[in-house]
Parts: sequence; C-alpha cells; structure tokens
Amino acid sequence: MEDFDIAVIGAGAAGMMCAAVAGQRGRRVVLIDHAARLAEKIRISGGGRCNFTNLQASPANFLSANPHFCRSALARYTPRDFLSLLKAHRVSWHEKHRGQLFCDHSSEAIIDLLKAECDTGKVAWRRPVAVDAVRHANGSGFALDTSAGPIAARALVVATGGLSIPKIGATDFAYRVAKQFGHKLVEPRPALVPLTFSSDVWAPFTVLSGVSLEVGVATGEKKTKVAGSFVEDLLFTHRGLSGPGVLQISSYWQPGEPIRIDLLPDREPVAELLRAKSATKRQIGNLIAEWLPARLAHAWLETQGLSPEARVADLPDKTLRRLGEAFSVWTLVPSGTEGYRKAEVTKGGVDTRELSSATMMSERVPGLYFIGEAVDVTGWLGGYNFQWAWASGVAAGEAAAEY
Ligand code: FAD
Repeated sequence: MEDFDIAVIGAGAAGMMCAAVAGQRGRRVVLIDHAARLAEKIRISGGGRCNFTNLQASPANFLSANPHFCRSALARYTPRDFLSLLKAHRVSWHEKHRGQLFCDHSSEAIIDLLKAECDTGKVAWRRPVAVDAVRHANGSGFALDTSAGPIAARALVVATGGLSIPKIGATDFAYRVAKQFGHKLVEPRPALVPLTFSSDVWAPFTVLSGVSLEVGVATGEKKTKVAGSFVEDLLFTHRGLSGPGVLQISSYWQPGEPIRIDLLPDREPVAELLRAKSATKRQIGNLIAEWLPARLAHAWLETQGLSPEARVADLPDKTLRRLGEAFSVWTLVPSGTEGYRKAEVTKGGVDTRELSSATMMSERVPGLYFIGEAVDVTGWLGGYNFQWAWASGVAAGEAAAEY
C-alpha cells in the first residue's frame, strides 16, 4: 500500500491547484486522474486560449443554493493572485471583454504552469489511473482501490468536476463519493448551455441559423432569487438559441418557464415606430432592417403577420404598438437544453451547506474535501468558473496541508 498525506482525485483546474499548494507546504501529495490527456477542459476552454479569470469576479457572479458559501475562498484568492502566478511563469495575457482575461497564445500555458507548480511541490502523478473504491477509517484516513494498486492518505480531496462534456472524461464520481459519505446533492443540471425549442415553435426561425446580435435576455420573476438578466450576444441555431447571452440565462432558466428577449435593448421601438409613421413613406421591412439583421427583420415581421413591403404610414397605431412591444419582450418557452454534451458547466452538485466555506472540508467526514465544479457553486460565463476552481483549490490545499 502506497502511503501519502493527501490524495487528490481529479487533475483538472481545481485538483492541480490544490495538489500544488499542499505539496509546496511540504506534504506528500498524490494526484490521480483517469483521463489519458491532462486537463482537457482547460485545453479546450476559451476557444483554446482559456479565459482563466475575470477581473470583476465577486460572489454576485455565482449561482448556488447557498449564495454566501463562495465568499471566503474568493476573497482569499483573487484574480490578482492568479495574475501573479502568470507573471512568475511569464505567461502573457490580454483582457478581451468585461474583465475577461485570456492567454495571448494558448491554454496549454495554463496547463504547463499548473504542472510546473505541482512539480515544485513534488506531487506524485497517477494517471491514467481509475479509482474503483474509496473507504474511510476513523483516525487512519482514507484507503483507495485504484487501477495502479491501493493508496492510503490522511486527507482526501475530490476534484473530479461536474458532468459536462462526458466524451472528455466527465463522470459523476464526486457525487457518488459525496452520497457514500452521507452528503446531499443539489440536483445537477446542464448550465451555460444552448436552449432548444420544439420544432413547431422553431420552424419560422430555422432560416436564421447563424444570425447573431446583441440583445437583452431575462428569465424568472425579477424579485425571486433565480431571476437573471444579461445584455449580451445571441446566436440563432438550427435547433434554438445560443451565444453568450443565452448561455448566461440558461443557468437561471427553470424547465417550463419562459425566457424574455429584448431584440432592441438600445431603442424604444414603440415610440420610434410611431414617429416613423408621420415622417416616412418607407416600407416597414426596410425600416426594421436598419435596426436588426435583415434576415431577422423579415422573418420577424412574418411571424407578426406583417408584410415587409407594407408602408409604415399605412399601418394602424395599434399594429405599430404591438410590433414595437413584441421587439422588446419576445417571450419564448424553451423545450429543453442541448444537455451535458454541449454544456460548459454543471449547475448544482455537492451541497455546500455541509462543507466549510473556509476550507472546503466536509462537516460530516473530517479530512474529506470537495472543490471546483463538483460543488454547488456555478459561475457566469467569462472566466468565473476557473476563478472558483483556483480559489477553492487553494482553500482546500492550504487546509489539507494543515490537517
Ligand atoms: P475539471 O477541470 O473538469 O477536472 C476534473 C478532472 O477530474 C478531469 O481531469 C477528469 O478527467 C477527472 N475525473 C473525472 N472523473 C474521474 C474519475 N472517476 N476518476 C478519476 N478522475 C476523474 N470556464 C472558465 O472560467 N473560462 C473558460 O474559458 C471556460 N471555457 C470552457 C469551455 C468548455 C468547452 C467547457 C466544457 C468548459 C469551460 N469552462 C470555462 C468551465 C471550466 O472548464 C470548468 O468549470 C473547470 O474546468 C472546472 O474545474 P474542475 O477542476 O472542478 O473540473
């Protein structure tokens, strides 16, 4: 039986950070992963350039049944701390949009950095290695049965992520271990995911596949905790809607509920249509095509039962009001999502109400930690999920080193 101070299962963003931190504090750490390629999710993230953090990261950018849980770890390990690490490893980066930071060259730089940090901490790698069973003996820590033989450790960190993108190795391992030790789960769901519509609802819009524009998008009652609203790009697809705005709202969307889209967030279409009526003899299709991509303008008028050739001056005020209001509050009920196959993250996971927010340690089983996407903390699109992986990894790494 190999013996370590700390076993970390899952060599992704959170697991590598945690192992490096604990190893650099002099602990004997083993890092186990079943995937053939290291940290594939980091590699494919941010279109290959890894949106590794967001300068604006705050607890308000995260969803959880326990919204204050993320506060402590995020306050103790900030985007600036991660930037110091990048500086030490000479990784260059740039800000793209709204505080989102990306590597200048490739996400491989982040993987190399984490690997080097683990090597500095003399972390022992076991991969590709499967973990078949985990046992806990009070007082003597944890025993793991792995495809590379038995491993014993005083502390165990579970960092195996969520269910998104099963084809690159996502599993429900963290949820199974949590349940085995009596932890509750907040029901996992695909999040940051394209939304789909039934074929009858979507038929008029399939011709718009590829059209993209900035919109306002919202779901839920404004006063409830699950409300969300964003002004970001929307993309029409063959099966429904995608793009950053829709991915953001998908994390808040509850099955059966509508989403509301404001196609003209910077205009007041009712007032502008009524003004245009007195000032122009133009066709409605040409006018709207100045506000929206032409393909969308025409398809949209058709769904409203209006011919693009109709002259604005000939349309009754009531019709123009109805049209203007429809631009501002396009209400649609998605039939579902593209699922874990396309979801960037999993919402829900190990219930944080039985974890310490300072250390990520289980309140049920001393020495057992859950970090990263496996727990019920889900960030917005834009680098927030990696910031949570770093922050929770550091919190657990420091704590497990002292355990
Ligand atoms: P992961 O990085 O998923 O790592 C989990 C590890 O555990 C994996 O290496 C896996 O092989 C291993 N594992 C799983 N099951 C087992 C098992 N049974 N036994 C052993 N090992 C196991 N977030 C951002 O902030 N910015 C982005 O730009 C961004 N882009 C993304 C793009 C895509 C396409 C996707 C899918 C996600 C993106 N995300 C992004 C989300 C981000 O990648 C995750 O939130 C983050 O990787 C979670 O880190 P983690 O360490 O908790 O889990």
